[in-house]
Amino acid sequence: MKKNIKLAKHAGFCYGVKRAVETTKKLKTENKDKEIFVLGELIHNSHVINELSNLGIHTVDELPCNNSSKCTNICVIRSHGAAPEVFENAKQKGYEVVDLTCLDVKKVQQKAIELVQDGFLLVIVGKPEHPEVCAIKANAQPHGEKVIVAPDVKSLESFEEEIKKHKRVGVVVQTTQRIENLQSVVNYLLPLSKELKVFNTICASTSLRQSEAKNLAKESDLMIVVGSKKSANTTHLAEILSGITSTIHIETDDELNNYKELIEKSTNIGITAGASTPDNIINNVMEKLNNY
Ligand code: SF4
Repeated sequence: MKKNIKLAKHAGFCYGVKRAVETTKKLKTENKDKEIFVLGELIHNSHVINELSNLGIHTVDELPCNNSSKCTNICVIRSHGAAPEVFENAKQKGYEVVDLTCLDVKKVQQKAIELVQDGFLLVIVGKPEHPEVCAIKANAQPHGEKVIVAPDVKSLESFEEEIKKHKRVGVVVQTTQRIENLQSVVNYLLPLSKELKVFNTICASTSLRQSEAKNLAKESDLMIVVGSKKSANTTHLAEILSGITSTIHIETDDELNNYKELIEKSTNIGITAGASTPDNIINNVMEKLNNY
């Protein structure tokens, strides 16, 4: 049976990730005499991290002391952003800091700061352990009293009394969250607060990717989501699509072998990929499927 295989238009690197990867590589080319350290994984994709490592770009959790007096090494801040102390610490250790925080993430940080400065109790909708969320919280917290991070409505319930007492509540959301999640948080907060200010800070790239993938899923009997299982936007895509049609989430084409039967019986197959999935990985998946 001939298969109809369709790749979503907005699959793979978003502009923020593209900028981070391209700029970091360029930094290495232009600064051969300097060591380049990226704080945390530049993007959630082990293939890209290995590629950077082969180019001599180090991924670290903590910056080593900068011993060289002749040359200033470079510290790269990834697209997720970082706490103000992280910038300060890098400068104190003598690093030149290159800030590649995505401009959309910067906007969330700015909105969060404005809300706490204006006296709102800030609620960040997102995963507490996600680096983007940690950075938003760390940037906002010094400007106000209290910041709540909640991945969903359930985790907000323990703050109910505090929310009622505060009356003025401001909301921002992790850039890669699902709009349905933001909606349910807003529905929960509305009756508890006197004034509720919401900034929908889901980035345009995520919204577009999700809505396009949903449409593709409606006309497909199988959706394949390609990308790291550590990537928030990729796992959200898989969650959304599995509510529409049969969906599998793979990191590389090798995993297709685990779903042979499912692929063989599917006629219309849609493919999408997270914002941190490189083109060559998507192309390998396409190629393997075309050979089925
Ligand atoms: S997913 Fe959105 S916020 Fe995150 S790096 Fe890409 S464009 Fe920026």
